[in-house]
Amino acid sequence: MAAASIPMLDLAAQRTRLEPGLSEAIERVLTHGQFIMGPEVEQLEIALAASCGASHAVTCANGTDALVLVMLAEAVGPGDAVVVPSFTFVATAEAVVLRGAVPVFADVDPDTFNIDPESAERALDHARTLGLRPRMVVAVDLFGEPADYGRLQELSSHHGVVLTADAAQSFGAAYHGRPVGTLADYTTTSFFPSKPLGCYGDGGAVLTEHRQRAAMLRSLRVHGKGADKYDNVRVGVNSRLDTIQAAILLHKLALLPDEIGMRQYVADRYRERLPGLDSQATNPRSQSAWAQFTVRCATSGVRSAVQQSCDTEGVATAVYYPRPLHRQTGYQDFPRDPAGLVHSECLSDLVLSLPMYPYLEQSDLDRVCTAVRRGSVDPGEVREVR
Ligand SMILES: *Cc1c(COP(=O)(O)O)cnc(C)c1O
Repeated sequence: MAAASIPMLDLAAQRTRLEPGLSEAIERVLTHGQFIMGPEVEQLEIALAASCGASHAVTCANGTDALVLVMLAEAVGPGDAVVVPSFTFVATAEAVVLRGAVPVFADVDPDTFNIDPESAERALDHARTLGLRPRMVVAVDLFGEPADYGRLQELSSHHGVVLTADAAQSFGAAYHGRPVGTLADYTTTSFFPSKPLGCYGDGGAVLTEHRQRAAMLRSLRVHGKGADKYDNVRVGVNSRLDTIQAAILLHKLALLPDEIGMRQYVADRYRERLPGLDSQATNPRSQSAWAQFTVRCATSGVRSAVQQSCDTEGVATAVYYPRPLHRQTGYQDFPRDPAGLVHSECLSDLVLSLPMYPYLEQSDLDRVCTAVRRGSVDPGEVREVR
């Protein structure tokens, strides 16, 4: 009988570890019946903020809404420009366009895959030449690795724009010893099931140091409420985290530091055992949340061969992301760094993500490495790629 296939992500072992507390927590919500904004929502917000040392956490329906809420809170709208990396998930730019503002695409660093501050600066300058008002830079912590917040903070204060961290993939990570959640004016995150801190449905949050900004977000997520939701002091949206998801997240949050350590172990083993392959560069002074373990193949041909070999061996792989945003049909007409987005374009052709989850077993890890090596070695030659 063939060995069971290895998925990108397996949540079963985590669930076993969370029981029976997890089921009891869900049962408690079913019993008290406050499915919307029940007590677990506020408990989670306090725990989320405390876990990263942020002053305020405001939960919402998903990570995309978290970005939309930030755009609403800052009144980003027509005539405004928001600089975003092109090599990211579409939600980062989508929130900008939904507000009637213009995303201006910046390139990423070829090694860390995160927004290149120099390209971001050219994008800000370019927005001005187009007659747009630069309002914000959104950095993405791709695959869990924090962006270069030291330089991004300098850049955004120099240009007088808001810095937002799209930390959908990096909650629990740290940059130079400072936790994600405290590195930008706003930090957004997602609790989509496959994120490092995932729930069993959709969920999201915004973290901020500013009391007024947090109060604005709390109003905006419930129809722009004032004293209550029938007092509408501004135009908002309906974007709340379900109480059941908050109860689940309270349990999962307690495991997160340990699980990030386990993900680090998997990443270290991959790097040790796949020395011929370039993986995403991580800053030695940072801690990635390892949402994904991603290699950059030497050529797209090597990538296809590795994909094929893994597929044959029953090892899942995925390409995040097969096309940069500035080449997506819905986004190709927006402006970009005039120097070009060559790294975003190359990475889309070369990256490949391997199975990554805290409970990946040693024998499975061995199988992934064997399949990857088989695909990346020329048959008949002992030479590895690069
Ligand atoms: C997942 C993700 C989002 C969106 O989160 P949802 O909860 O799915 O809306 C936004 N940005 C990035 C970088 C993501 O990976």
